[in-house]
Amino acid sequence: MNLQLQRNVSLKPFNTLQIDARADWFAELTDLEQCTQLPDLCRQQPLLILGGGSNIILAGNVHGLVLLNRLRGIAVLDEDDDSVRVQVAAGENWDAFVQHSLELGWCGLENLSAIPGTVGAAPMQNIGAYGVELKDVVERVGVFYLADGTFTELSAPDCAFGYRDSIFKHALKDRCLITHVVFRLRKRPALKLEYGEIRAEIAKQRMSAESLTPLQLRQIIIAVRARKLPDPRQLPNVGSFFKNPVIPAAQLQTLLATWPNLVHYPVDGAQTKVAAGWLIDQLGWKGRVHGKAQVHEQQALVLVNMGGDSEDVLGLARQIQADVWERFGIELEMEPLIIGLA
Ligand SMILES: Cc1cc2nc3c(=O)[nH]c(=O)nc-3n(C[C@H](O)[C@H](O)[C@H](O)COP(=O)(O)OP(=O)(O)OC[C@H]3O[C@@H](n4cnc5c(N)ncnc54)[C@H](O)[C@@H]3O)c2cc1C
Repeated sequence: MNLQLQRNVSLKPFNTLQIDARADWFAELTDLEQCTQLPDLCRQQPLLILGGGSNIILAGNVHGLVLLNRLRGIAVLDEDDDSVRVQVAAGENWDAFVQHSLELGWCGLENLSAIPGTVGAAPMQNIGAYGVELKDVVERVGVFYLADGTFTELSAPDCAFGYRDSIFKHALKDRCLITHVVFRLRKRPALKLEYGEIRAEIAKQRMSAESLTPLQLRQIIIAVRARKLPDPRQLPNVGSFFKNPVIPAAQLQTLLATWPNLVHYPVDGAQTKVAAGWLIDQLGWKGRVHGKAQVHEQQALVLVNMGGDSEDVLGLARQIQADVWERFGIELEMEPLIIGLA
């Protein structure tokens, strides 16, 4: 069936910040065959692909076509005693797939539990949490090139995955639709439990790290996240608003002289990752308001939209960036993608 184009559609239900921007044109992609219409449509207007809308800020109306990715399907490609290769369509819900895979005894995604959004958006920023990144489990990513209408697959190295980064944010930005992701998942668990918060929750629930199953680890992670991150359905947000900045080791030493409790994690001998939430919290931003946007009361890294528009949220974000720069000499980079500036 052809794409059903609708005119002048509100995007409020399709982004977790619940910003009420409008799309000139809107359609749902439910079948791979509909992709063949895209090159012509893209020649006539800009195209914005949307999954769950949990990592974007709509900074104005979208003058073009918004395509909601609803491609569905999960298929096992092959398996042996140790691992399974599974192909998942881009429109599948990420967390539902994590649950499904663990129920079938496929391991590797447990630390990435409860991240909102779709499977197809996960490679964009190489989603990560609690010591695991998408790149650890991805074998290939299927793409459709919007200019020439061809389908292909990229290997994981071709995707140039980095910290919250990939080729899809650079050379392939706005040039392709991700159609599916091929994962290689283990059948024997190798749980990653390095994070202090995870260990603390295991102890709190009186469980043993040694006998923990991947499904139990998922529940632990869901419990930790539920305490830290507000549910976007109640308090509209996009998760972590800023990336953790990476600074030279020498700068860290200077900062530690003034701020001995600065939370940081070594990247390598020359560079250190600093906890953006700690920097913001230290400057007293928790709970502060700009227009109808607020820094979450419990989590300094999360900005909440209380019925305002993108200017409220972005205005608050810019004030935080300026303050962190002035006090620490560190540049904070926004994590969500800003879309549709008028
Ligand atoms: C409460 C909360 C917690 C979060 N926690 C984490 C976390 O722990 N770790 C983490 O990494 N992220 C986290 N995020 C961010 C977000 O969930 C992820 O980045 C997620 O992968 C975004 O998926 P989405 O489908 O909502 O993408 P969208 O917001 O719809 O899109 C994001 C970008 O990808 C593009 N895109 C989407 N689908 C496709 C496709 N099929 N082909 C081509 N381009 C596409 C869009 O055009 C856009 O540029 C969190 C967000 C929230 C709200």
